[in-house]
Amino acid sequence: MDDTLDAVIVGGGMVGAAVAAALGQAGMRVALVEGGAPPAAIPDDAPFDLRVSSLNLASRRLLEEVGAWSFIPESRRCPFRHIEASDATEKRHIRFSAVDLELPDFGFFVENRVIRRALWQRLAELPGVTTLCHAGPVAWVPGGHRSLLELDDGRMLATRLVVGADGAGSHTRELAGIATRDEDYGQRALITNVRTRLPQQDVSWQRFAPQGPQAMLPLPGHYASLIWYDTAEATLAREALDDEALRLAIEHAFPARLGGIEAVLGRASFPIRRRHAERYVRPRLALVGDAAHVIHPLAGQGLNLGMQDAEALSRRVITAFRSQQDPGGRAPLTGYARERRPQTLAMIAAMETFHHVFTGAAPLRHAGAAGMAVAERLEGAKRAVMRHALGL
Ligand SMILES: Cc1cc2nc3c(=O)[nH]c(=O)nc-3n(C[C@H](O)[C@H](O)[C@H](O)COP(=O)(O)OP(=O)(O)OC[C@H]3O[C@@H](n4cnc5c(N)ncnc54)[C@H](O)[C@@H]3O)c2cc1C
Repeated sequence: MDDTLDAVIVGGGMVGAAVAAALGQAGMRVALVEGGAPPAAIPDDAPFDLRVSSLNLASRRLLEEVGAWSFIPESRRCPFRHIEASDATEKRHIRFSAVDLELPDFGFFVENRVIRRALWQRLAELPGVTTLCHAGPVAWVPGGHRSLLELDDGRMLATRLVVGADGAGSHTRELAGIATRDEDYGQRALITNVRTRLPQQDVSWQRFAPQGPQAMLPLPGHYASLIWYDTAEATLAREALDDEALRLAIEHAFPARLGGIEAVLGRASFPIRRRHAERYVRPRLALVGDAAHVIHPLAGQGLNLGMQDAEALSRRVITAFRSQQDPGGRAPLTGYARERRPQTLAMIAAMETFHHVFTGAAPLRHAGAAGMAVAERLEGAKRAVMRHALGL
């Protein structure tokens, strides 16, 4: 029997696991190579983790289609129905409501580890998917009908398609000789999980202060994830504060609408960088998710873009497979790159504009705030923005 796999996916994060689930569900023979351990079970009463993502409508649909959504417990997902953005004074603002698009909600905030665990639970149900943990690629040899991927444990995998889903520092991307364009925004984000006095409403909001945005992502009940962007120096100084001093600093700096904070439950900080692969495909190889692009997290779209990559790539690869064509051939891969690169470039451009307008010189910031106030009154423009953010 031919031992050539239909696909090898490197990286079992949320995006790689979504690709593996889609291909496995279509009856393809797939190996998922993950450098770390398989995701552990999360007890119902475990505290919320710091890494939280917004899943838009398109991402949620993908999770439903690959059979993973039902593994995300209701107690650990928080629907949101409004998105608001304001200037530093909060006088000028824009509000988007799901009801305006006749939708029940915009999406859900869910911990990354819960999404990942749900996808792996689904993978365990798919007989065509093999997971290989604590392993990574050391060499990739492209070929005419298949390529060879050598792993650090000595195994050699023959496959029609390699999918690089191994995150921002992708080794697969390096093995394929794909360069990136990088930019450091000179900002750092402090992420905290807090317990609030009031239950968090079904709204996610962002305030554009001159040093950088401040954002509130609601979590179920009296919990929220706060993101506070600033210079690296200021962020690292805040991160070093004790819990009580940090609680007071947040109450002081964040808008009054947050209400009182009872406790700071966790904290971490990240440098804010952009990274974009110069190409998404090579013969028999495609990049998805953060391996292909890392964008400014201010609009919470990084994972959503990755999920759209997963959807676009698997749709094209499965179509080729079902029509007895080569799933790692030229047609599905170039089609994928042509579909996804312009979408990512558009999102990067939008994030650049937000970043430069709202952290730029005072006249630019005022122009940005005025623009927000005008856009609030333009129903057509608002709808277009909403549809884009939903991945529709
Ligand atoms: C502060 C912050 C806030 C964010 N908020 C949001 C948000 O609200 N909404 C949103 O949509 N996005 C958000 N993002 C972005 C989002 O977190 C990422 O886009 C997403 O996690 C990328 O998923 P991924 O599966 O592509 O990569 P990763 O999550 O990085 O997964 C990569 C996987 O590959 C594995 N791996 C790595 N190297 C190897 C190797 N050599 N061999 C084998 N396996 C390997 C890793 O162990 C991991 O499992 C945020 C990002 C930041 C920094």
